[in-house]
Amino acid sequence: MSHVMRSPACFTGRNYVGGGWRPSGCGETYTTYDPMHPARPVSVAASSTEVDVEAAVASAAAAAPGWAALSTARRGVYLTKAADALESRAEDVARDMTAEMGKPIRDARVEVAGALQILRYAAHEVFWARGEHYEQLATNGRILTRRRPLGVVALITPWNFPCLIPVRKLAPALIYGNTAVLKPAHDAPLGGLHVAAAFADAGLPPGVLNFVTGSGSTVGSALVRDPRIRGVSFTGSVATGCWVRDTATPLGKRVQLELGGQNPLVVMADADLELAVEAAFAGAYGSAGQKCTSTRRIYVQDTAYTVFRRKLLERIQRSIVGDPADPDVEVGPLVSESQFEEIMAAIDRGRQEGGTIVAGGSRADEEGYVVAPTLFEGVRDDAYLSRREVFGPVASLYRFDTLDEALERANAVEFGLSASIFTSSLSAATRFEREAQAGVIHVNSQTPGAEVHVPFGGIDSSGFGPHEQGRAAIEFFTDVVTVYIDT
Ligand code: NAD
Repeated sequence: MSHVMRSPACFTGRNYVGGGWRPSGCGETYTTYDPMHPARPVSVAASSTEVDVEAAVASAAAAAPGWAALSTARRGVYLTKAADALESRAEDVARDMTAEMGKPIRDARVEVAGALQILRYAAHEVFWARGEHYEQLATNGRILTRRRPLGVVALITPWNFPCLIPVRKLAPALIYGNTAVLKPAHDAPLGGLHVAAAFADAGLPPGVLNFVTGSGSTVGSALVRDPRIRGVSFTGSVATGCWVRDTATPLGKRVQLELGGQNPLVVMADADLELAVEAAFAGAYGSAGQKCTSTRRIYVQDTAYTVFRRKLLERIQRSIVGDPADPDVEVGPLVSESQFEEIMAAIDRGRQEGGTIVAGGSRADEEGYVVAPTLFEGVRDDAYLSRREVFGPVASLYRFDTLDEALERANAVEFGLSASIFTSSLSAATRFEREAQAGVIHVNSQTPGAEVHVPFGGIDSSGFGPHEQGRAAIEFFTDVVTVYIDT
């Protein structure tokens, strides 16, 4: 077997700190492997320590005053140039992500396109109003509000969107005048390294963006504790996110968490069932269910249940499962052996708790960590599969009678990230929009999917702090200052 390392030489075993590609202080590295061909190495990344975090934060702190003093338009030029540089290597970025974390190449291409949109959207920030203007009560003086950058921010990202999530945090952080230290997921640093390389190609001033790879417990926790970091924006699991929040907030830092989900899709009998089936399939099994917004629970109204179930099973049977590098493949592998084992254990638990597997339930490739798209029926509302986030291609089908019942059961989880309803009734859609427990609600579209110019984020256990994206991003990355002006 040929072992082809994918990462370009400049990245190999290096961090991006102070405007240069540097090995970690201890000189150690680690290797990532292709989850479809687990013996095949994909990249070599720096195994960084607290020493590297110290250098990265010092470099970001030194760059902060100069970067904050630049006009928004000038900062925007760097974002536009970074978008152009990333676009010029878009196919490599997509292929590297596919090799490193198993996302089907068709989804990886869409992810890179989304990252480009975010950079270009943020680059136009100068065209938006950013403050408010009032009159004083006692005089005819003015009062303005002004937005100021926080200073140095830490951005900690997961493996499932290795390019888009770093960009979703970096673009607003930088355009509002912050400098940043970004730590990508240990298992999939390549997408983020490409982003850092695009900013390097754009000529970003040294220290404005620093990129440090390594383990969460070493690099991540050192960042969270560093007194020079003013804000921590984290996307990942609930357990780690809560630790980040509970450590950073007593230290006076601002914290933004984007966490997991247990996302319901409700299908009313009056829905377009073809559309609903396709959305359920794509929502549950796209990217092998490794999206925070993936559909986990599918509630179907009694009178449509049998037809919907048959059509969904037919769709699952037609699905193309296997090598994510194949452009036709819809469902690829899980990111790692440990995720594979976790998902197989959750399937076992679903069965032990009384659920019936009506599709999938087993490994679908001898070599790769591929789990066949799995559908359960008869899962109790208080069972593990109905309550916990199972981060793989596993969904459960439930039957309901009234919308009241569907809403009550859909909302009966600790999470609140995304929820969908399929219906042709305006009043059902409107009620769902008002009452579904989710930060993102879809009417007649799948639970995943987020446009770059609108807020994105969860409520309840799915999030903490201001939402990301669109106009919402300014809330986390700036302080509001009120200015009284008398003449
Ligand atoms: P994770 O929590 O294991 O890791 C996330 C990041 O935190 C990684 O960079 C990791 O190295 C780092 N980390 C680990 N320990 C740390 C510590 N002690 N201090 C600081 N950082 C630490 O999550 P994951 O497995 O990479 O990602 C999957 C999870 O992310 C799922 O739960 C998924 O739902 C969630 N997610 C949420 C969103 C969203 O926007 N809501 C988007 C994508 C993924």
